[in-house]
Amino acid sequence: MSSSTTVEKASPERCAELLASLTEIRARVKASSPADKVLTLVAVSKLKPASDILACYEIGQLDFGENYVQELEEKAKVLPADIRWHFIGTFQTNKAKTLASIPNLFCVQTIGSAKAATALNKALSADRSPLRVFIQINTSGEDSKSGISPLSSSSNLEDSEVVQVAKHIITECPRLRLEGLMTIGALELSLTASETEKNADFERLKETKALLEQHLAQNYSSNEKRWGDEKTGHLLLSMGMSSDFEAALKAGSDVVRVGTGIFGQRPKKTAS
Ligand SMILES: *Cc1c(COP(=O)(O)O)cnc(C)c1O
Repeated sequence: MSSSTTVEKASPERCAELLASLTEIRARVKASSPADKVLTLVAVSKLKPASDILACYEIGQLDFGENYVQELEEKAKVLPADIRWHFIGTFQTNKAKTLASIPNLFCVQTIGSAKAATALNKALSADRSPLRVFIQINTSGEDSKSGISPLSSSSNLEDSEVVQVAKHIITECPRLRLEGLMTIGALELSLTASETEKNADFERLKETKALLEQHLAQNYSSNEKRWGDEKTGHLLLSMGMSSDFEAALKAGSDVVRVGTGIFGQRPKKTAS
């Protein structure tokens, strides 16, 4: 690992705190998932200083999630180049260029329309390897959440928005690779469902993935390299945050996004 960076170091106390919380979260992630499964723990560092990220990086954390394009751009400039940045904030087409200019941008998890995919595809340079993208699904149907409606067994797949966007990415966006589906989910469901059995958001995302994957396998198997995880060929599920990542992993999540559980409470976002 290179450590050529201009970032100021976190205090020894802060480093010890982050080591303890990251170690604990990693242990809980491991305990909630099958031993042979490849999982990604994304440390969500929005509104946290670069020094916190560097402290986690120095204990082997490479995946970080950010929500704000400008903040991500500034952090990426000063932090190590082998960090894998996951953009998990609301995707705006007018920010596509800035996002695409970040050399170590690893994936964009919040694609919600064909238009968004087109903008990102256009902004990316042709000589980089395809950028992983996730389609965001609004599993809870809340107005406050972005994303496309989930699929169910009664959906007309061909006409569904999810299939249309997936098809658009696979056939029209050569600089993107459809990696999987992402949801945020309703907070109340994650708070109550941990007590009972199943979280409806996770179940809806799983069902949507199964239906979409089946459809893609039937129609785009020759485009296989354009979608699904490179190793397994399956679409990945990005679901689970600090309050519900263990339940998400038990439900089959591949990517969990944990912020406060690692970094502590965030300051309020100031208008920018
Ligand atoms: C902020 C954020 C997270 C992390 O949330 P915590 O509850 O702090 O773990 C995960 N996913 C998305 C999309 C976020 O915006």
